[in-house]
Amino acid sequence: MGSRPLLSKALNVAVFRRDGWLCCWCKRPVIFAPVMKYLELEYRKAGDAGRVAYYHAHWTRDGAPLLDELGAVIDHIKAGGANDMDNLATACNKCNGQKSDSALDQWRTRSANQ
Ligand SMILES: [Zn+2]
Repeated sequence: MGSRPLLSKALNVAVFRRDGWLCCWCKRPVIFAPVMKYLELEYRKAGDAGRVAYYHAHWTRDGAPLLDELGAVIDHIKAGGANDMDNLATACNKCNGQKSDSALDQWRTRSANQ
């Protein structure tokens, strides 16, 4: 996802917690990817040979449908801005994929008017 430097997991979690684990665009709850990874591992350890589909490294639709739709991602409020709390917001993977950085202002206006 882009070429920005990776944020630390602690900073990610701090942003998600501040925002109440809700997407800043659609207000749906988001899913923390490491939790899904853990679930997938537990199921596989338990000998579930079937298709588990809780986690996939690329969050693919068939490999990890929950993450594809609701996976928690960090959104930069100001594109290319600083990696500090004030410039970061919680988003679901779906909303994050739908908007481009240039459309952010328009998107925010529309969200505010709903
Ligand atoms: Zn969303």
